[in-house]
Amino acid sequence: MMKRIGFNKPYLTGKEGHYIYQAVLSCKISGDGVFTKKCHDFFESKFGFKKVLLTTSCTDALEMAALLLDIKPGDEVIAPAYTFVSTVNAFVLRGAKIIFADSSRENPNLDVTQLESLITPKTKAIIPVHYAGIACDMDVIMALAKKYNLHVVEDAAQSIDSYYKGKPLGSIGELAAFSFHETKNIISGEGGMLTINDEKYMKRAEVIREKGTNRSAFFRGEIDKYGWVDIGSSFLPSDIIAAFLFAQAEELDNIQEKRKLIWNIYHDRLKSLEEKGKIRLPFIPGYATNNAHMFYIVCKNLEERTNLIEHLKQFQIQGVFHYLSLHKSPFYLSQYSGPELPMTDHYSDCLLRLPMYYELTEEDVIRIAETIQNFYQTT
Ligand SMILES: *Cc1c(COP(=O)(O)O)cnc(C)c1O
Repeated sequence: MMKRIGFNKPYLTGKEGHYIYQAVLSCKISGDGVFTKKCHDFFESKFGFKKVLLTTSCTDALEMAALLLDIKPGDEVIAPAYTFVSTVNAFVLRGAKIIFADSSRENPNLDVTQLESLITPKTKAIIPVHYAGIACDMDVIMALAKKYNLHVVEDAAQSIDSYYKGKPLGSIGELAAFSFHETKNIISGEGGMLTINDEKYMKRAEVIREKGTNRSAFFRGEIDKYGWVDIGSSFLPSDIIAAFLFAQAEELDNIQEKRKLIWNIYHDRLKSLEEKGKIRLPFIPGYATNNAHMFYIVCKNLEERTNLIEHLKQFQIQGVFHYLSLHKSPFYLSQYSGPELPMTDHYSDCLLRLPMYYELTEEDVIRIAETIQNFYQTT
């Protein structure tokens, strides 16, 4: 029997249960306990983020960002169409109209050369998504934001431990959102984090995250009673979630080393297909690093990708596609006419994600690459 290779397998470092037990024994398992603080300290010191706040998901961190920026009905927000719904839903919830940007030719990140043409007097924010953890061209985006006085929120869901010209992703926009969903590099099942890079948002972010109250300041002893001071919701995770995450964070370097090893084997074993013009491999611009969040290939067309997925399945390998482009979603089309976004459509039809997780062995990766090589020998 051939071993089945699934698309994702959450990796446990071994300390998660121990830390969760410690959190439980501390009898302080609501939000902002000992492990939440440990996680905050870890991410702030490791990546130099000015301030971070754990949230229950990246989706929540994005919703906090939309609240912090006071997004209102009638505002326009620019985001790529090739992304997860949460990138834009957070802003739609505040009444914004989403203006979708096409992906670039090189990779699925938004095409910065078209960005300026999408800006109108109603534009309030740009939400770049660092697809596969590969940086968008942030200098261009930040320069446009400055020129037109726009906010920038990085959707850094996939971008932990990745860099743009030496700066950690998530530290460049005014705000950024990370995900620790079980499909990401480090995980807590569900989980996320907001990074706040502009001091003017720090106080209010704490309030919004604590149901619109100044409870965080109260617990620090800065005020003698706490109350309702703003709008907000419950965005903070239980300390049990943070305990799980801290066990992962401690192993970040080890996890990253292994994922990059896997990524490089894929690349070595598939690059001949790119040289022959059969497929395209991930493109990493000179300004970006690779955090090995994902390994994908880009097929020629939808039919070829469908056949390749079927071929992989016959050999017990699960390849997956994703992101049915948002500009063609039933929800968007029920309200707006969809713009033509040819590169977004191309990635929607042709991009295929290969298995990528810590416990994938070298033999597994070689087997997957050879199965793909065989497919292209017969087509
Ligand atoms: C995973 C992901 C999200 C959502 O993260 P959650 O933590 O599940 O809310 C948002 N945007 C992108 C680009 C993602 O990959």
